[in-house]
Amino acid sequence: MNAGDLALQRSFPTVMVPRREPVTPMEAAGERLLVAENGVFLEIDLPWLSVVRRIADYSVPTAIPYGRVAERTVLRCGQVPAHLIGAFVEMARAAHPLETGAWVVWNARTREFRLAPVRVLSQGTGSLRYERPTLLVDELRVIDCHSHGAHPAFFSSTDNEDDRHETKFAFVVGNCGSSVPSMAMRLCAKGIFEEVGRVPSSWYAAARLKEVA
Ligand SMILES: [Zn+2]
Repeated sequence: MNAGDLALQRSFPTVMVPRREPVTPMEAAGERLLVAENGVFLEIDLPWLSVVRRIADYSVPTAIPYGRVAERTVLRCGQVPAHLIGAFVEMARAAHPLETGAWVVWNARTREFRLAPVRVLSQGTGSLRYERPTLLVDELRVIDCHSHGAHPAFFSSTDNEDDRHETKFAFVVGNCGSSVPSMAMRLCAKGIFEEVGRVPSSWYAAARLKEVA
């Protein structure tokens, strides 16, 4: 086969899921397609996250002689410390009514998290243009945070467009002038968007405006 298609297929292989044994784990970070008896699944394997989601069903009840696959999510990096969310909310308050952004990154070697502010190119009350933060060798983005100034937290059509090709959690803070801001979070996995029903209560506690003594 030609070199171009070979490279593409190597970067995103398709696996026939066996019936009598578990599917072989991925050898390196990346993505693959699993063709199973119960549909076609996308598997994404990263040092901080492993995710499997069904992306297609069969439209004909034909017999597929492969094994079944279950959707799963494994957050390998563990829970994100609430104080980093608190620190981002502080940034969002300082920028209010303008928007701002930062990444929560995880170091795969030290297993520590930190907040890495983006380099803002231009910011408005409904827009933000930025450059990605400079990360250390072993650092990976886990949460892409941005603020909505005085507007509520939600995912706009611009956010949908920005998040379409990426694998990350996206987090929005809104009503930044309020003592308890609004928050929204979702998992983005190469076009799959899953909004998290409830942001952890520890994040709201960390985001509460500290009373000035
Ligand atoms: Zn937004």
